[in-house]
Amino acid sequence: MEPTHGPRSTIRRHPERAVPDEVKEILAAGLVAHVGFCEDGQPFVIPMSYHYSPTRPNRLYLHGSRDSRLMRLLASGAAVSIAVTLVDGLVYSRTAFNHSMNYQSVVCFGRARVVEDEVEQRRHFEEMTARYFPGRTLGKDYAPATAQQLAATLLVEVEIEEWSAKARRGGPRGPYDDDPDARGSAGLVPLEPPRT
Ligand SMILES: Cc1cc2nc3c(=O)[nH]c(=O)nc-3n(C[C@H](O)[C@H](O)[C@H](O)COP(=O)(O)OP(=O)(O)OC[C@H]3O[C@@H](n4cnc5c(N)ncnc54)[C@H](O)[C@@H]3O)c2cc1C
Repeated sequence: MEPTHGPRSTIRRHPERAVPDEVKEILAAGLVAHVGFCEDGQPFVIPMSYHYSPTRPNRLYLHGSRDSRLMRLLASGAAVSIAVTLVDGLVYSRTAFNHSMNYQSVVCFGRARVVEDEVEQRRHFEEMTARYFPGRTLGKDYAPATAQQLAATLLVEVEIEEWSAKARRGGPRGPYDDDPDARGSAGLVPLEPPRT
């Protein structure tokens, strides 16, 4: 089942920047997931690598040490929010207020379950490696994880319940930015590669 939209995943500021049709593409292109959770009333945000494949649109995979606080919390089924951001450019304007960034971002809400099955674990790790390092082949370019390494690692599958995607594109939009005779300068610095 595809994730839905609800009150907590409704974009309020600049709703015209909502890009719900691009959510899978952004998740499949991102490198870093910022994972937010709450423990005893204290919010935390921890950066993590992750795996996402549009073929399983409502699933996102995280892994870490069995001793990690985040992984233990996720394994317990705690509510989690995950943000993925691609930064495409820096936008400068003739007015302070209109400096900006071009970005594509997704925010997900969900809960995790532990992936226990070793065959499933190995499949996800192989797919994840291929996403980050396209062209590298298990068995040829790198050796598989040992049973001991797998045992020390917790892999969780986050079922995404709700998600939203937002993007800003284009140049500066300040009141004087289209006027070449106005004071100051305005423009766009594209960032390559367009991912963070
Ligand atoms: C790009 C990137 C990808 C990563 N990918 C993974 C991954 O796939 N799996 C994985 O297990 N870990 C990953 N890490 C490391 C991860 O961010 C945590 O540091 C790690 O999971 C340790 O967890 P912990 O339970 O010991 O942290 P906690 O005990 O939860 O951390 C305690 C405190 O340490 C500080 N802290 C923890 N991590 C960081 C950090 N990265 N930067 C600054 N302060 C921090 C915070 O103040 C935090 O509240 C990644 C980090 C980065 C930057």
